[in-house]
Amino acid sequence: MSNTGCRKRRDVRIAIDGPAGAGKSTLARRLARELGIKYIDTGAMYRALTLKALQEGIDPSNEDMVAALAETVSIDLKRPLEDGGEQLVFLDGTDVTSLIRSPAVNRNVSLVAMHPRVREAMVEAQRRLASGSVVMEGRDIGTKVLPEAEVKIFLTADFAERVRRRCRELASRGYVPDVHEVEAEVAMRDRIDSERETDPLRPAEDSFLLDSSGMTADEVAGAVLGLCEERIGCSTGSSARWRA
Ligand code: C5P
Repeated sequence: MSNTGCRKRRDVRIAIDGPAGAGKSTLARRLARELGIKYIDTGAMYRALTLKALQEGIDPSNEDMVAALAETVSIDLKRPLEDGGEQLVFLDGTDVTSLIRSPAVNRNVSLVAMHPRVREAMVEAQRRLASGSVVMEGRDIGTKVLPEAEVKIFLTADFAERVRRRCRELASRGYVPDVHEVEAEVAMRDRIDSERETDPLRPAEDSFLLDSSGMTADEVAGAVLGLCEERIGCSTGSSARWRA
């Protein structure tokens, strides 16, 4: 895919990492739309594998079983139906775009994603998907999947704000969120994702840290588009409020 929003005629890779509820998906989709490049949500792949494990009655903590499943399952990501929309996810040919956002998957996905053999398979698949220009979001994109990315953003927000965003997201999908349960789930995912041995959640040394607490989605996108303009000659935007 060509990087139509960029002045420079070369592939552009933008890595967006950060904890749950920081606003990564909203930002990544917006960048992809504005810059005219593809968008890949890597969390959706771990979620699809988790859904499959739950459907098969496999214990998410059992690395051998989950890794074997990762080798046989087919997970396809398709372009959103409209520009800036949600990426579609197919598991063995079935559309599971909504199902992978269920509370049961939320509770188990970090257990599945902590296994080194599972990550190895996922990282390999993600690197293949990232060919050409791409905005890719996850936890280890800047550190592991695309360490050579031209722009790396580490997006964070206050815990309370991340919980509020997760509750809003669940409500928009038809669930009735229990704030205490969401708090526990986000705290658990933060802990497992950042303490695991293989590719833990952490900012790449050359990433830009952006705390989106109190910022609107427009402000976050404006800040990052400003950075893209500065670094790679893509689009325009307001100047960023970075923490070094
Ligand atoms: O981004 P999302 O919240 O959908 O990711 C779900 C989970 O998948 C994360 O909590 C994390 O455990 C795992 N994940 C990961 N590495 C990625 C993307 C997601 O470990 N690159």
